[in-house]
Amino acid sequence: MTLADNLAAVRQRIDRACDDHGRDRSEVRLLPVSKTVDAEAVRQAYAAGVRTFGENRVQEVKQKAEALADLADLRWAVIGPLQTNKAKVVAELAHEFHALDSVRVAEALDKRLRTAGRTLEVLIQVNSSGEDTKSGLPPERLVEFAAGLADFSHVQVRGLMTLAANSTDRSEVEACFVRMAELREQLRGTEGLPGTYEELSMGMSGDFELAIAHGSTCVRVGTAIFGARPPV
Ligand SMILES: *Cc1c(COP(=O)(O)O)cnc(C)c1O
Repeated sequence: MTLADNLAAVRQRIDRACDDHGRDRSEVRLLPVSKTVDAEAVRQAYAAGVRTFGENRVQEVKQKAEALADLADLRWAVIGPLQTNKAKVVAELAHEFHALDSVRVAEALDKRLRTAGRTLEVLIQVNSSGEDTKSGLPPERLVEFAAGLADFSHVQVRGLMTLAANSTDRSEVEACFVRMAELREQLRGTEGLPGTYEELSMGMSGDFELAIAHGSTCVRVGTAIFGARPPV
């Protein structure tokens, strides 16, 4: 299987999941996750039509963006947690940030974005499984956190992101996705919150069909496209 074959197979699985669950295909975006793979593989995926790539480490985005500077319409989505001292790189290079869970990071990004004359689409990460190894806000703090972002006009809040429970029990994974859909509705129904909350970034190689069934608008898929990563 070539990378293009893998991509086609994943796109087909997304099509089928949309069909099976009454979702409009145009509402579900595939975000290929290129973390740990080299710039050459990103170039191949670009040749197969991908324009936006997910990465979870800022240093890696920076290196790949430099190596691929000739691809003018390439875009980066940072999907991993960020420290304030890396906000400048993200503000200058990224088009999306899926892992906001700190007001200090929002403030640092806003400041750097102002300087750079850019805006950034941001998703708030929620810890929907309650696993203490996971980043993200606990669901009960979400509304208060979202309200606190009102001053950061260059940070454009578009929705929520989660990593579901790391479990072989399908019902545990599903419960996370169900919870996320409910939280998005809650935020949409809360008056005066900054942000639009149309996006639900959820679903990875092992669980994206289930995420689509529960309203995902962006599936972040790494291994099913680029192959297994070396163990961390
Ligand atoms: C690595 C990663 C993914 C992709 O995971 P796969 O299981 O390889 O598809 C998705 N989201 C985040 C936040 C990641 O770090």
